[in-house]
Amino acid sequence: MEISLISFEEKSRRLDKPVSFLVVDDDLRARESLATLLQTKWPDVSQAEDGEEAITLIQQRQFNLIILDLNMPKKSGDQVLAFIKEKKIPTTVIVLSGETSINKVNEAIRLGAYEIFKKPYSFDELEHAIRNALDKLLIEEEKAQIQSRLEHSEKLHRYMVDNSPDLIYILNLAGEFTFVNNSVTRLLGFKKSDLIGKHFSEFIADEDNLKAEYLFNERRRASRSNRTVELGLKCNAASSAKPFEATTCPIELNSMGIYSVDSKGSKKVGTYQGTYGVARDISRRKKAEKLITYQAYHDLLTKLPNRAMLRDRLDLAIKQSERTGETLIVMFLDLDRFKLINDSFGHVVGDQLLVEVAGRLKAEIRTGDTLARLGGDEFMLLLPQPTSRAQAESVAQKLIASLQQPFYLRGKEVYINVSIGIAVFPVDSKDINTLIKNADMAMYEVKSTGKNGYTFYNAKLEHAAAEKISIESGLRKALKNDELEMYYQPQINTKTRQIVGVEALLRWNHPQFGLVEPNYFIEQAEESRIIEQISEWVLNRVAIDLFGNKDFLDSRMKASINLSAADIRQKDFPENLVAIAGKYDIEPSRLEIEITENMFMSDIQACTHKLQVLSNKGFSIAIDDFGTGYASLNYLRELPVHTVKIDYSYISEIEHSKKGAALVAAIIGMAHALGMNIIPEGVENKNQLKFLEDLNCHIMQGFLFSKPVSTTDLLKIVVTQREKQSSLANA
Ligand code: C2E
Ligand code: MG
Ligand code: MG
Repeated sequence: MEISLISFEEKSRRLDKPVSFLVVDDDLRARESLATLLQTKWPDVSQAEDGEEAITLIQQRQFNLIILDLNMPKKSGDQVLAFIKEKKIPTTVIVLSGETSINKVNEAIRLGAYEIFKKPYSFDELEHAIRNALDKLLIEEEKAQIQSRLEHSEKLHRYMVDNSPDLIYILNLAGEFTFVNNSVTRLLGFKKSDLIGKHFSEFIADEDNLKAEYLFNERRRASRSNRTVELGLKCNAASSAKPFEATTCPIELNSMGIYSVDSKGSKKVGTYQGTYGVARDISRRKKAEKLITYQAYHDLLTKLPNRAMLRDRLDLAIKQSERTGETLIVMFLDLDRFKLINDSFGHVVGDQLLVEVAGRLKAEIRTGDTLARLGGDEFMLLLPQPTSRAQAESVAQKLIASLQQPFYLRGKEVYINVSIGIAVFPVDSKDINTLIKNADMAMYEVKSTGKNGYTFYNAKLEHAAAEKISIESGLRKALKNDELEMYYQPQINTKTRQIVGVEALLRWNHPQFGLVEPNYFIEQAEESRIIEQISEWVLNRVAIDLFGNKDFLDSRMKASINLSAADIRQKDFPENLVAIAGKYDIEPSRLEIEITENMFMSDIQACTHKLQVLSNKGFSIAIDDFGTGYASLNYLRELPVHTVKIDYSYISEIEHSKKGAALVAAIIGMAHALGMNIIPEGVENKNQLKFLEDLNCHIMQGFLFSKPVSTTDLLKIVVTQREKQSSLANA
């Protein structure tokens, strides 16, 4: 063995302390000569002249070796031995004695002497005995060290096992638990003692019992054993450790067989002893996985299925319908004026409304139907069971009716409508994407013809869509080929008969259709956002046509231009306008921006701020088509508006309905009260003129005075007016 091969000195060096001796003898010469001899090898040698002194020294410090005479005054060697034994002092005693009667020897051995020498003795023999004793001491010391290391390591492992977040267990041959660590309480809510001695199957979730039979009780070892298998373990329902949790805990199991090892360290596999396993709690991961799948297929706000799930279901429904030859229905739903509500009440309230809308719609459908939210205020409904057009219509009517009752947002009554487009499989399309697109197209048809209603897809819509596309590409060409043109409609002061301003109106000199009015193309320009380029063109054109002309400049007339929502939405819209005005040296007070009432309301916050910037710079703002939208009078008070333009439809009502006339009167009264300018549009006859003049309204626009005219014609009119004025002044 390793220990015996190492030199003695080396071994004693390895002892923590240097070796210490105590020589006890009343014979001074014998004692001193022995001490001197010992000191040649081991420097630490103390002396005692009798038993009493020896005991005193032993109590004071530790000696590895005591060489003890037996016959001494005061206290004998036997008494010293007895003391050492009684006090369990760790030391080795070699006895030197004049007497070696068997009784004396026996007594000394009984009292723990390591060896006995009869005086006179050979020092060599004594040294040999000393070395043997030290050898033994060393072995014991080493053993103690190993033992302490083992104990430490055992403690460490136990600590690790007990404090592991995983459940660690050992099963015996019969599959019963013989060990479980502390985690069992946290994970399953059981005490350790609840499991010890019980068969593992009692704790496996019922649905996993079969799987567990092979896995839990794993006999294989190392790489062949089970790795990360998922199972469910039963939890203790009565335990307070897991109060709100499910009745089973999902775990991931690693287990392997335990085999006996023979004491000679042979590599041969011994007999099967049981199973060792580690079960990791994966409930958090499982929850996260569930959430991820849920999120992938649901709209988190309304908890409705999302587009992905709808497509899955629609795909499935189409396959089924292909087999059975039955029809299925897809409806595209879009809320009307939702953006307005979002902008006026904020997104939190907008979200709340969407949730309530989803709830009402859902209440109207059958369990097999899928109502999905595609995003924003768009929903889609799939009726997978064979449904006739009439049935689809009644569903659409029910959906519309369900939203007709008011919603209460922040204590206010709010009404919301929905536009529904319906497409039928396989009539309208056999392809999933086209079917959705067709329903969408039908929905747009509802929107463009007045909102709140439903319509079925039909091939005519396709033509309309194709036309839209051709308008879009035509407009791009128009910009490039210089096909756009500005017309100007004068605004008259009926008291002085003078033109006080002009409204710039866009025309498209279409290569096929001739001069086209904006109603044909503006909406499409807005949708495709070409409007931004168009507006830039308009601004430059008006600047050059009018403000680049001396006659117009001298006339002190105002010019107003129409802008779209997309223009205002541009981040640096006010700055751009200011820059163009600067570039052409346009006095801000001579430029008015017209914004339709609807547009104003759809983006009220952003709009107000930007228009305020322009108003502060001296530009005027007109609210166009007043009366056609939803602006309340209250809003007008807060907005930076200088001019209200009453829509043509109201003016045309003046003669035909008392109500219409009353409304116009009310609008004019209100505008005057708020100190705003008012311009009625579309004044076509003298009756209307008189009615308006009687209401003290004197600035007007309409065919009665002039149609929109080309730049050349307008400038002619401007010159004529100036000449008339000067001849009047001269007269
Ligand atoms: P709007 O701004 O309300 O312009 C007034 C419309 O009423 C003009 O139609 C004008 O020709 C028409 N009108 C004027 N007097 C009468 C009348 O006595 N009777 C009738 N029946 N109509 C009259 P227009 O030029 O076809 O423009 C239609 C709309 O297109 C405009 O309505 C405006 O919203 C938009 N628009 C026109 N030019 C532009 C433009 O440069 N940019 C943008 N974004 N929109 C424009
Ligand atoms: Mg206008
Ligand atoms: Mg108008």
